[in-house]
Amino acid sequence: MTVRLFSPRRAAWAAAAIGLALTADTSFAQQRFITIGTGGVTGVYYAVGGAVCRLMNKDRQKTGIRCSVESTGGSVFNVNAIRSGELDFGMSQSDVEYNAIKGEGQFKDAPFGDLRAVFSVHPEPFTVLARKEAGVAKFEDFKGKRFNVGNPGSGTRASMEQLLEAMGWKLSDFSLASELKADEQGPALCDNKIDGFFYGVGHPSAAIQDPTTTCGAKLVSLVGPAVEALLKKYPYYSEATIPGGMYANNPNPTKTYGVRALLVTSAKQPDNVVYNLVKAVFDNFDEFKKLHPAFAHLDPKEMVKAGITAPLHPGAEKYYKEKGWL
Ligand code: GLU
Repeated sequence: MTVRLFSPRRAAWAAAAIGLALTADTSFAQQRFITIGTGGVTGVYYAVGGAVCRLMNKDRQKTGIRCSVESTGGSVFNVNAIRSGELDFGMSQSDVEYNAIKGEGQFKDAPFGDLRAVFSVHPEPFTVLARKEAGVAKFEDFKGKRFNVGNPGSGTRASMEQLLEAMGWKLSDFSLASELKADEQGPALCDNKIDGFFYGVGHPSAAIQDPTTTCGAKLVSLVGPAVEALLKKYPYYSEATIPGGMYANNPNPTKTYGVRALLVTSAKQPDNVVYNLVKAVFDNFDEFKKLHPAFAHLDPKEMVKAGITAPLHPGAEKYYKEKGWL
């Protein structure tokens, strides 16, 4: 038997295959990959990223944009990663966005003037959860107890530090100030490793649903002179209430204060990419709202301004003007 190593026909096929590969390569080069930085997977940022990407990827043949979501440490990390070009888009609390653009708080030494808003999403009440057996009725009762203040890089941690400062507390006022990530604090609470935690998050969220259901964890109000002073001093804070009965074992409403969740990007992000992103969301808004219960009450006209301090990205602005929302 002879094995023919070369035949003109095969050569022609091979040439065609190379041609195909080259064509494929060219179209590949036109594809654009974008990544949205979010938060822990049991939070709501991750759900926002997932919903945006799901709607964007439906049109990826047409737009050439493929969207993916990354779970991250939260707001401050996302804003810094957008600045360094590591992320294209990211979720951020409105207070963190304000500080980044104005060069205040955690961005005091390094303002990020190129930060751009895309839209705002759900409200994020600061949510304090206590172990059922911790003997905590109000936030002050956590003095000398084990408390999770949030991981560095989270918006939660930044806002927690501002509250502690307003109260005149230090981290050493807790017997333990742990820095567990958002996804770890619920399990740690039910395992009796901490007595409570603070989390800036939309509702309902799995991060609160799990410990309230599994070990009867209790929501704790954030009210009093320190909170009132914060509300007066900072434009990005507003009063908030977590409705009674939203979570198991917590039948009464919980009074607190909070911020707004935003989707942000850099001024360097091309207009057409941002335009395609907002178009995917708002052309399919009924579907978007169904992708997470925390989106149920969103109103597009409010989403183009609530909590937004940074300039809107021109790609987003173009779409909102077409719709007559600006
Ligand atoms: N607001 C939180 C933070 O930036 C994240 C909330 C979430 O993941 O839904 O730390």
